[in-house]
Amino acid sequence: MKYYVLTLFPEMIEQGLGTSIMGRAQSQGTISLKSINIRDFSENKHGHVDDYPYGGGAGMVMQPGPVYRACEAVEQEIGHKARIIYMTPQGRVFDQKMAEELAQEEELVFLCGHYEGIDERVLELKVTDFVSIGDYVLTGGELPAMVMIDCISRLVPGVLNNNMSAEVESFYDNLLEYPQYTRPEEFMGMRVPEVLLSGHHANIEKWRRQQSIKRTLERRPDLLEEANLSKKEKQYLDQLLRERAKENNEEI
Ligand code: SAM
Repeated sequence: MKYYVLTLFPEMIEQGLGTSIMGRAQSQGTISLKSINIRDFSENKHGHVDDYPYGGGAGMVMQPGPVYRACEAVEQEIGHKARIIYMTPQGRVFDQKMAEELAQEEELVFLCGHYEGIDERVLELKVTDFVSIGDYVLTGGELPAMVMIDCISRLVPGVLNNNMSAEVESFYDNLLEYPQYTRPEEFMGMRVPEVLLSGHHANIEKWRRQQSIKRTLERRPDLLEEANLSKKEKQYLDQLLRERAKENNEEI
């Protein structure tokens, strides 16, 4: 996977994604990351890339010219039209499903806005996807682009040491992950659940699935509507719902 990030703050991207698993993936060549400074495409002698909004109002708007030329330069380097994702609070909200879809691409271009955003005309001309990382407003698109790159990269083969780990994490099958434990066996009087020490793989698997269902019901019940549950697991969920109704003296 090749990532290109169009930004006014390339050092933010390079530092933010240069360590840990993302840093290792780049050294190993499983992913590549190139930050392109939009300012390099300014034709203004002071390197300005923003101006006042037409019609008045607060803040500055990024001009279309430098962004357009930066997009063209990346497209030329890639050799064909690529997906250009504009990070914006006005976009479709990023989730694991979108990450899975985007992980199939060979290249992805992220466009990061700043100030009040980017002149609409260049967005119309160049952007293929408008994506938000949540219903709140940040100062720039760099953190959102890093969030997406981190998440998508975990799905690129070879980035995680163990190919399995992306498959059993939260949101896989529309369930949250089961609780995790490591050494010591006892901490502050709290013991690791016995089943995890038993070495009985089938029982461990069953316990983990049930814990996933229980946790999803407690923390993200909305996910359960689309969860992939077996007949037995559905019965377990019904049992949890009955127990909960009884505790709350509700009818079911
Ligand atoms: N005036 C814009 C609006 O109301 O839609 C917000 C501009 S915001 C201050 C500056 C830049 O931060 C945006 O152009 C976008 O690239 C980025 N940004 C802010 N919040 C974001 C979010 N929730 N998701 C993705 N990008 C975001």
